[in-house]
Amino acid sequence: MKADGEWGEHFPMMTALFTYYDSYSYPPWPIEEEQISYIDRENGLAEVDLGGEGKTILHWRPVLEFVRDEASGYELADDVRDYVGEDKQKELLNAVLVCDKTSRKYRIQSRELYFYLKHNIAIPRESFHARHTRRMKQLMRCDVHSYNCDKCGKEVQTVYNKSVDGREVWCGECYQGVIM
Ligand SMILES: [Zn+2]
Repeated sequence: MKADGEWGEHFPMMTALFTYYDSYSYPPWPIEEEQISYIDRENGLAEVDLGGEGKTILHWRPVLEFVRDEASGYELADDVRDYVGEDKQKELLNAVLVCDKTSRKYRIQSRELYFYLKHNIAIPRESFHARHTRRMKQLMRCDVHSYNCDKCGKEVQTVYNKSVDGREVWCGECYQGVIM
């Protein structure tokens, strides 16, 4: 690996867990609705304004939460105990719900309903995606900081926050120079 210059590089793209046009960056850095100028539902594409970096066409998964669906007419009960009976459970599990926050369609799964009933938790009125996005925003703070390499002084950008972590930040070359 050292002879071929692979040492210290990222793993090859063929081992990536995502397709080339997908990214795991959307949960920590979500696209805001104001950034979307156009959604092409037929081809699953969206035009997104990246601010200072101009506009780009994205596969629309990161903007899906802004696709509005029509209300399905199913009235969700506030009290989960309304779903103790089998008929009401079947009705709920077959219903298409529409998210209060994103207007996106979602459904309740049987094991999920079992969990809500067991713990006396109201059926969520937000879709899985809206709940997941909200949780990710709480969990992940991935701000990019600019520092000077603590070894050579070159400017580097990193997700480490020195004021919190207190660790040294080195540039790629300095780091590679030590681990090689
Ligand atoms: Zn350096």
